[in-house]
Amino acid sequence: MPEWLGDLIAFVYGIVVGSFLNVCIWRLPRDESLIRPGSHCPSCDRLLRAWDLVPLFSFLVQRRKCRYCGAPISWRYFGVELLTGLYFVLTYHAFGWGIDTLAYALFGASLIAVFFIDIEHWIIPDQLSLAGIAIGLARDGVGLADGSRSAYPLPIPWTGWHLPVPQSVAGILICGGVFCAIAALSYYVFKKEGIGGGDIKLAAAVGANLALDRALLSFFLAVALGSAIGIGLILARRKTRKDYVPFGPMMVAGAVLSIFYGGRLIEMWRNYVGLGGN
Ligand SMILES: [Zn+2]
Repeated sequence: MPEWLGDLIAFVYGIVVGSFLNVCIWRLPRDESLIRPGSHCPSCDRLLRAWDLVPLFSFLVQRRKCRYCGAPISWRYFGVELLTGLYFVLTYHAFGWGIDTLAYALFGASLIAVFFIDIEHWIIPDQLSLAGIAIGLARDGVGLADGSRSAYPLPIPWTGWHLPVPQSVAGILICGGVFCAIAALSYYVFKKEGIGGGDIKLAAAVGANLALDRALLSFFLAVALGSAIGIGLILARRKTRKDYVPFGPMMVAGAVLSIFYGGRLIEMWRNYVGLGGN
């Protein structure tokens, strides 16, 4: 298959999944069913037809407006579809066709929904983090069957030791545990909830899907990014130090960076500290 055709197929899958993510991003924080009723305009409640729901295309053709009542449609709908399409293309480029691509595409889709929901509503719906955990566990199940992933026994980074559990299970326990400890500590120090239960479950989902060193790297990137953005906002006087900035979107950015560039970043770091070549 020529590469452009693979890209195109991945992109089409991505924008279709992105269109479903838009439904999740609107409905999950409002506790609405994902299935019923069918998609409708939030302004006039008209049920939308297939023609109104073609990813990317409908939004452009209808010029950001509902065809029935003229209410403006948020750019987010277009953005989420485009972003998911591009993410799927990146995943295909990095991992080819296979179980890795399927797993990272689905996990990444749940991350994109987390990003947009947490940034607006400051919550991470359990359905999304539990879906992420399920994807990681299922992947190890399949990986163990065909030996495509060295999940068992689990290598502990930088030590040469192995744990007799699948990678996903260890990742859930260790990453979830690390975040529980941080949550308890920050609550004890700052006397308010900095890291919430949603962040802990999301950390477990990251641990289920990424190799342990890459999962830990993603948390480090999230903290670095969060600090940079927090300081930037304070300097721009957009926020004071007491305002809340949700941590979920930083974790999502860290995880996506780590999925695609984690290997290279870790190798650079190993070379830097003189551990390269083993
Ligand atoms: Zn309408």
